[in-house]
Amino acid sequence: MRHSARSAGSRQAAGSPADPAPSAPGHGRGPAGAPAARAAGLTKVYGRDQTSVTALDSVDITFDRGRFTAIMGPSGSGKSTLMHCLAGLDSVSAGHVYIGDVDLSTLSDKRLTQLRRDRIGFIFQQFNLLPTLSAAENITLPLAIAGRKPDRAWMDAVVAAVGLADRLRHLPSELSGGQQQRVACARALVTRPEIVFADEPTGNLDSRSSAEVLSFLRHSVREFGQTIVMVTHDATAASYSDEVVFLADGRIVDAMPNPTADAVLDRMKHLDAARAGAPAGYHPGIEG
Ligand code: ADP
Ligand code: MG
Repeated sequence: MRHSARSAGSRQAAGSPADPAPSAPGHGRGPAGAPAARAAGLTKVYGRDQTSVTALDSVDITFDRGRFTAIMGPSGSGKSTLMHCLAGLDSVSAGHVYIGDVDLSTLSDKRLTQLRRDRIGFIFQQFNLLPTLSAAENITLPLAIAGRKPDRAWMDAVVAAVGLADRLRHLPSELSGGQQQRVACARALVTRPEIVFADEPTGNLDSRSSAEVLSFLRHSVREFGQTIVMVTHDATAASYSDEVVFLADGRIVDAMPNPTADAVLDRMKHLDAARAGAPAGYHPGIEG
């Protein structure tokens, strides 16, 4: 994962000496060398004139294949906006977003919908399973919508990895929160997407279920070469990633490879303190 981290007021171009060394090449699928996703000069402004809010301010970031990246930052720092723009769920005000080598701004609405369906996986905080479908039917729904047949061996591998082989006939209401989120993870992976975006995937789970879901996400990166970008405000969740990227006020201000929960908590404390302009207590778990 490469990005240009800069503090407010000091603009550094991508590739400047302040950049960390490029990460090892991913072992995922896709054209060799092409990153899974990339943003260049990504700016997002909500509203206009006096009431406008710059949610993202010229963000440059590259997600290499086969890597697990966590995005952290104080509430309102632009995490969800970044993820939505990267995933083609929201338009950008300036700059470009690429999935593989496709510039999303060049696509019609129809092509963009197809690209999201065929090349991107999503995991949401609220699981978003269809209540009347079984676990198995929920998992294969994206394939059904795309008119594709499940690849049996792949489906079995994913179901085994999420540990749901004996729950496939159950309805979501018959599953625990952790099991439901694991169904949602399997659903995100079953199409073999080039990249999976997860927004607070453990936000509604207890610590044990969170650990199961996060272990699966990391496993899918290590074993399947999956690329994952996860927004989280939880330092423990972030510690499962290969690298944490820190956002503040719509800018990438820092990054931490091979994170530990303690190191992430410490960095977040400093981010919040810098933002408040005075030393301030960080309250893990309090987030907007
Ligand atoms: P985070 O996910 O880090 O909490 P968001 O990306 O949701 O932050 O929001 C970044 C900034 O953009 C915030 O100031 C927020 O109030 C603003 N914002 C987000 N969505 C909208 C919207 N639809 N309309 C207006 N402002 C928005
Ligand atoms: Mg958010």
